[in-house]
Amino acid sequence: MKFPIYKTKSDEDKSSSSHFANARVIKGKERVFDLNNPEERKKYFEIKAGPEIEIIKNYLEKKSFVAYFLGKKNSGKGTYAKMFAEIIGPEKIAHFSIGDMIRRVDEELKDKNKKKELIDFLKENYRGWIPFKEIINLLNKRNTATLLPTDLILILVKREINKMEKKTLFIDGFPRELDQVNFSLFFRDLIGYRDDPDIFILIDVPRSVINERIKYRRVCPFCQTSRNFKLLPTSKIEYNSDKKQFFLLCDNPQCNNVRLLPKEGDEKGIGPIKARLKKDEELMAHAFSLYGIPKILLRNSIPIQSVKKNVDDYEITPEYVFEWNKEEQRVEIKEKPWFILDDQGNKSVSLLAPPVVVSLIKKLALDFMSK
Ligand SMILES: [Zn+2]
Repeated sequence: MKFPIYKTKSDEDKSSSSHFANARVIKGKERVFDLNNPEERKKYFEIKAGPEIEIIKNYLEKKSFVAYFLGKKNSGKGTYAKMFAEIIGPEKIAHFSIGDMIRRVDEELKDKNKKKELIDFLKENYRGWIPFKEIINLLNKRNTATLLPTDLILILVKREINKMEKKTLFIDGFPRELDQVNFSLFFRDLIGYRDDPDIFILIDVPRSVINERIKYRRVCPFCQTSRNFKLLPTSKIEYNSDKKQFFLLCDNPQCNNVRLLPKEGDEKGIGPIKARLKKDEELMAHAFSLYGIPKILLRNSIPIQSVKKNVDDYEITPEYVFEWNKEEQRVEIKEKPWFILDDQGNKSVSLLAPPVVVSLIKKLALDFMSK
């Protein structure tokens, strides 16, 4: 599996072309965007993929499509889908996560009436090899770690999709098992999207990136906002001089500057999910080799020798370091380059989500929608 590198770098020589018409050249340099700021991110997308965004919007006026996101756990599938919807229009796009759906089913099972409704629905609609009694048993006794059988997942997905208006779907978490790949080939027929294109979107993120995403993750105990101590801090940092430690404080005004905390086990990084990552990689390789279904390959990392030619500096994930300025009694936040090794051992940088989404928009628009 070879993931191509897409160029998202602004071309200074062509800054007068329609493509980058708004990109102002400041002192011989391309315009710089803060991609963590939603307003600036919006302008960034207009400048880097404005015409392609229009193509997709026009396409979605009358049509829709089904996209399957395939990538390792914690590869940011949800982030990409949400960002795509933010640009193209949330009213046209549904991000459908199998994990979220199963959590909702778990909630329904706790409520007597909702549980009865669910069981009645399954009684009418379930088809499969596993006896119905056993299906109900599985639901009753299940803990969140046990996987539900494919037959059951399929019927639950169908139930959820029937509840929504026909939107473009970004499906995340299906297929998850090798046997589910075959189902995904006929899935659009199953859910009544027969004439809509379906596309596999494969996302390649190095293990080292996922490792640090987990290791430095910090979560707000009140609003559950998830940030990263090293890669995506909040805007307020607290320094505790006794412990000589820095803490991220939640930016949400309702949370009253509460400290974001690590989740138990996060310090182990990818240690506990290595088997799962391996399975996800196998699944991607399997999907990659499938005939007949179109694919878009997206990559998160760029080997350093290819960086200069292909991406702008501000599209790269930096590492943040904190220093205590004793004289002024304040925390200084500094950015420095963050280098990682990709899965092949090449020294690389990791892209922020927006340039990856720019590549997705361009591929979708130019390969699927402008014919
Ligand atoms: Zn919060």
